Amino acid sequence: MRRTEVVVIGGGQAGLAMSRCLRDAGVDHVVLERGRVAERWRRGSWDSLRLLTPNWQSRLPGFRYEGPEPHGYMSAPEVVGYLDRYARSFSAPVEEGATVLAVEPATAGYRVTTDRGAWAAPSVVIATGHCDTPFVPGMAGRLAEDVVQVVPSHYRNPRQLPPGGVLVVGASATGVQLADEIRASGRPVTLAVGRHTRLPRVYRGRDILWWLDAMGIFDESAEEVFDLAISRSQPSLQLVGRPDRATLDLPVLQERGVRLVGRVVDAEGSRVSCADDLVAHTVAADARLARLVQRIDVFAARTGLDAELGPPEPFRPFLWPAPAPAEIDLRAEGVRTVVWATGFRRLYPWLNVPVLDARGEIRHEGGVTPSPGLYVIGLYFLRRRKSSFIDGVGRDAMDLTAHLAAHLRRAA
Ligand SMILES: Cc1cc2nc3c(=O)[nH]c(=O)nc-3n(C[C@H](O)[C@H](O)[C@H](O)COP(=O)(O)OP(=O)(O)OC[C@H]3O[C@@H](n4cnc5c(N)ncnc54)[C@H](O)[C@@H]3O)c2cc1C
Repeated sequence: MRRTEVVVIGGGQAGLAMSRCLRDAGVDHVVLERGRVAERWRRGSWDSLRLLTPNWQSRLPGFRYEGPEPHGYMSAPEVVGYLDRYARSFSAPVEEGATVLAVEPATAGYRVTTDRGAWAAPSVVIATGHCDTPFVPGMAGRLAEDVVQVVPSHYRNPRQLPPGGVLVVGASATGVQLADEIRASGRPVTLAVGRHTRLPRVYRGRDILWWLDAMGIFDESAEEVFDLAISRSQPSLQLVGRPDRATLDLPVLQERGVRLVGRVVDAEGSRVSCADDLVAHTVAADARLARLVQRIDVFAARTGLDAELGPPEPFRPFLWPAPAPAEIDLRAEGVRTVVWATGFRRLYPWLNVPVLDARGEIRHEGGVTPSPGLYVIGLYFLRRRKSSFIDGVGRDAMDLTAHLAAHLRRAA
């Protein structure tokens, strides 16, 4: 059995940021990755996927984007290259091709068993990702067998789908991008819309994420928000990162011929039932966007940006979603495919330490679990609103390294 002070599980941005901070603190460690560095971006992305965060917003501890297009958006292969260069920049001790099969308590820490041998360490950091396994609601199992069902991590491009119409369920970043791309390939597309966060790509000439960064919204911490559980359940951003910096939202999709319907609430055979909540969700998203735009305008006035940027842009609410059916008969309408863009779950079948709650999520406070020496990083709003973003995981890694180093000193 090999020994080290910390075993980090996962070689994505979170595991690498943690590794860099541990190295800076002089802590001996290993990063175990079942595939290769940035495996998720190598295998879990559709062909046209680009980051929705601009390139400059990819800051990691000791590393930043220095390419020619700071305001562009990396493609998935470019993210792989970026994270590969990051790992090489500090010779991260990554063991690629090592799948963790079990983590269990052991004398003075943990035993980590992989398919390539075991490790003993007083501390373990779980960095296996917030977007681990696609979530597909149970009703999917009641759909007729001839309906092809796809999750985003298996979708590559419209050519892979059988001919005919497509129902995309879920209208956050992934759902709107896939609906748009499949519609552009000439197919009839229906998009089922639940809670979503509508955003323009650019506001008053600046990327919307520039505004959120400058205003400190991404930096908001767990202590600062009114209700952490509510903040953690916020729908993800409805955004796309394309070279033309165009906005992709529901009005745009409707104009392009995508039919919008309410949330899918049931499915049986070839029939899908939708809630009568499309207008409620679009109105709520508009209200949140109006509030945000107002905050931006106040910020611009207070910081003297007004003179540079010109007047506020008029707010255009999405007033006219077309009437939406309550039921779709997939067979009658020629809809052959359902794409479940319904978010992600996290699974830890290898974690034999009693830290999971009833839903199977790791119990933690800012990444510190109740089991001494066991940490988790990379989860949505772990410590800050930006915790699960490339640009945000570094601050959490620094905080957790300080906590972990103190634990190691006590345990020594
Ligand atoms: C479609 C999509 C688009 C996104 N776009 C952006 C964006 O534009 N900007 C942004 O900042 N963020 C974006 N994110 C969010 C976030 O940056 C990614 O989810 C990112 O992959 C998270 O990095 P991570 O290191 O936390 O986890 P992951 O990248 O998921 O890395 C976890 C690693 O753990 C490994 N692993 C898992 N289980 C084991 C095991 N048992 N043993 C060994 N290794 C294991 C996996 O192979 C994987 O490499 C996006 C997410 C998705 C899903």
